[in-house]
Amino acid sequence: MTQELHIVGGGLAGSEAAWQAAHMGVDVVLHEMRPEVETFAHRTGNLAEMVCSNSFRSDDDEQNAVGLLHWEMRAANGLIMSMADKHRLPAGGALAVDRDPFSESVTAALRALPNLRIDYGEVTELPRDGHWIFATGPLTSAALGAAIQQETGADRLAFFDAIAPIVYAESIDMDVAWMQSRYDKGETEAERKAYLNCPMDRNQYEAFIDALLAADKTEFHDGESAGYFDGCLPIEVMAERGRETLRFGPMKPVGLTNAHRPEDKPYAVVQLRRDNALGTLFNIVGFQTKMKYGAQSDVFRMIPGLENASFARLGGIHRNTFLNSPTLLDDQMRLKSRPNIRFAGQVTGVEGYVESAAMGLLAGRLAAAEILGKPLATAPLNTAMGALVHHITGGAEAKTFQPMNVNFGLFQPVDGLKGGRRGRKDRYKAYTDRAKADWQGWLAGQ
Ligand SMILES: Cc1cc2nc3c(=O)[nH]c(=O)nc-3n(C[C@H](O)[C@H](O)[C@H](O)COP(=O)(O)OP(=O)(O)OC[C@H]3O[C@@H](n4cnc5c(N)ncnc54)[C@H](O)[C@@H]3O)c2cc1C
Repeated sequence: MTQELHIVGGGLAGSEAAWQAAHMGVDVVLHEMRPEVETFAHRTGNLAEMVCSNSFRSDDDEQNAVGLLHWEMRAANGLIMSMADKHRLPAGGALAVDRDPFSESVTAALRALPNLRIDYGEVTELPRDGHWIFATGPLTSAALGAAIQQETGADRLAFFDAIAPIVYAESIDMDVAWMQSRYDKGETEAERKAYLNCPMDRNQYEAFIDALLAADKTEFHDGESAGYFDGCLPIEVMAERGRETLRFGPMKPVGLTNAHRPEDKPYAVVQLRRDNALGTLFNIVGFQTKMKYGAQSDVFRMIPGLENASFARLGGIHRNTFLNSPTLLDDQMRLKSRPNIRFAGQVTGVEGYVESAAMGLLAGRLAAAEILGKPLATAPLNTAMGALVHHITGGAEAKTFQPMNVNFGLFQPVDGLKGGRRGRKDRYKAYTDRAKADWQGWLAGQ
């Protein structure tokens, strides 16, 4: 006798979770509020609607982490990938998708499953009984958001992301930057050197402010900006309020001594903070921004020490409902306080169509295995799926947790390979080879 699995939200994640669980033989009820209740971004009543761009990004499974995630999902009979492949549009090395036929095909494929029922209507509570996956996405309905907050505490569910850019540590010039916490604060040596500092002289600061003011910015979508802002002003807005505002805010130079040139007093300092336990990623403190991506790379590479920076992700501010997953979810993606409930997709603090669908795939398999009485270990750490789920459920800094794309900075290093830019191609190939072998092993064990 199997028990039903209820999945709330028929987006990228919920559709994939439903497909996976149904294929494992579990009866599934998929709850979707559209078209009855709408969001500001969705246009149709289809499942798995792509709300903005039509790109699944790079399809290179040897040199790109998102391409590797494509590969892993294809190997796991992923519905989202198979329909994306079927409705692929020419786009060079990227996987672009013909969005309407794509979401219509996902809807039709799910409707055709004999053990899956679609129940149209809004779910507004976290049920106490039964097996549930909540994959309600960045635009989770207000009533459900309130119910989640009641369970988790108001400070553990955010309604906006305010993402500062994240830089690969290996691409920072440490002949210019140095490690030091302001006023050397901290009990331990690690705490006293918790920040990475990039100094600016007056000319560099003035040029940086000019570039910020001139940069192309993105606008909020209609209906997106309600309730926006407190405490997360974009840096360009701070610069618009006065040329000195940043120097008295996130770029203040006080309490820091340039370790390379102690006699030089910096006019401003950009600080970066460790973003993961591995120490491979650093975020630029207080640098959330609405600048367009192209402009961001140009402007941030004006910062001394970051001239050759590679970005694991660029900054942004969006309407985005997401959990503080590192504190709330276990590695099975279950709510620690209510283990009959899993979360999946963007609401867990991953970012992007592919990452959301991937977390749906994993949650669907984990939930179905549990219902069938054959619990599964979560995805292996060295796979793209595993690196991502490990990051959101524990590897990320909980205090500063913001949504994350899959990227090689989340991967454990492979021993014996050259660091830096020169070794990058071999390193990425080693990551993807290792991931593919581990992923196949995980699938074969089911
Ligand atoms: C405006 C906007 C633009 C974006 N642009 C991009 C982009 O260009 N590229 C990219 O990779 N990512 C983009 N994202 C981020 C994200 O990858 C997508 O939103 C993605 O669709 C997330 O997948 P998901 O399954 O987690 O959520 P969704 O695809 O949004 O699916 C969630 C589903 O849950 C339903 N739902 C919500 N609340 C309830 C409820 N209480 N009861 C029942 N059903 C409910 C919703 O109607 C929806 O169908 C964007 C996000 C937003 C908000």
